[in-house]
Amino acid sequence: TPVVRKVKVMPKAQYGGRHTVTMLPGGGIGPELMEHVKEIFRVGGMPVDFEIVNIDPQSDGNLDLEYVITSIKRNGVAIKGNIETGSLDTGIASRNVALRNELDLFVNVLNCKSYEGVPARYPDKIDIIIVRQNTEGEYAMLEHESVNGVVESMKIVTAENSERVARFAFEYAKQNGRKKVTTIHKANIMKISDGLFLETSRRVAKDYPEIQHNDMIIDNCCMQLVSNPHQFDVMNMTNLYGTIVSNVICGLMGGAGLLSGRNYGDHYAVFEPGTRNTGTSIAGKNIANPVAMLNAAVDMLDHLGHKTHANILSRSIRKTVIDDGIRTADLGGSASTSDVVSKIKKYVIEETSQMKCR
Ligand code: ATP
Repeated sequence: TPVVRKVKVMPKAQYGGRHTVTMLPGGGIGPELMEHVKEIFRVGGMPVDFEIVNIDPQSDGNLDLEYVITSIKRNGVAIKGNIETGSLDTGIASRNVALRNELDLFVNVLNCKSYEGVPARYPDKIDIIIVRQNTEGEYAMLEHESVNGVVESMKIVTAENSERVARFAFEYAKQNGRKKVTTIHKANIMKISDGLFLETSRRVAKDYPEIQHNDMIIDNCCMQLVSNPHQFDVMNMTNLYGTIVSNVICGLMGGAGLLSGRNYGDHYAVFEPGTRNTGTSIAGKNIANPVAMLNAAVDMLDHLGHKTHANILSRSIRKTVIDDGIRTADLGGSASTSDVVSKIKKYVIEETSQMKCR
């Protein structure tokens, strides 16, 4: 019988005063976007200090990674860009995956809510929550060449983690007034591994009779997402399907530059852009969309209990992108990264000074 664990929907940061948060800029557009985050936090008087840590993608040891993990364990919370993994032949395992595993960040959550007016395949009324297993499945990084020309890659599915992620999805649905959870799988082919994930979610669903539960095969899910995304509410899935579905939905709603993603374990929380792109080819050109990283900062403030500051930043982003239509090229606009950031900064300053006057 699988172990039943109590799942907190998210670990709570300790409340009160200022917080120190680990900032891991990562590669590509990460460092320039983090500069904007720091500047907006400075002008908005956000009560957060950043401990900046870096990982050199070229280093062949794991000292940098260990330092980053220690920093996140100390602070409990991090904001990160994506760390480059390097080319296929380096033999270096993904530091992004290693970090999630070491911190046992077992679930990744993406709130996919439309930005009205932003040019997109589905510009409105998409409101989907993706709950994704974040530490195992196809990301186990257990690959080997058994005999010359034959490689094996292990997909690990455990009852314990399937239960944790399913419980998270149903608890989230319950606590946020959601009606339905859809479990995504390929149990018709991977009968044992995805079968376990699916069976576990069905068993957990019985504890939540008020939430409807259905399931869908990943290939049909992709077709349904592009033809009728409005049928989905909360989605529950394994790791690889999760990254594919996240990218499909972000693509439908306006691309990699908008949405943020949240990683939770029982003890730590890490915030980052939702599709985890490095954006290497657009780095240093002042053209990257800063919104996804700023939304990650909103999530982080919210998690820390700084609701007022989170709302100020969130409203400033929405006013800039939706009302004023100041958007980067990926959203059909002609603004640079710094144009978007300047406007957001202006709104943050305005709102913060009004707050102080009251
Ligand atoms: P390559 O894979 O060729 O090295 P890349 O690193 O830029 O390019 P990804 O990081 O995988 O590619 O990003 C996928 C796509 O999303 C790219 O076209 C990238 O330019 C775009 N993209 C990612 N983040 C952003 C962003 N914040 N703003 C605008 N476009 C983005």
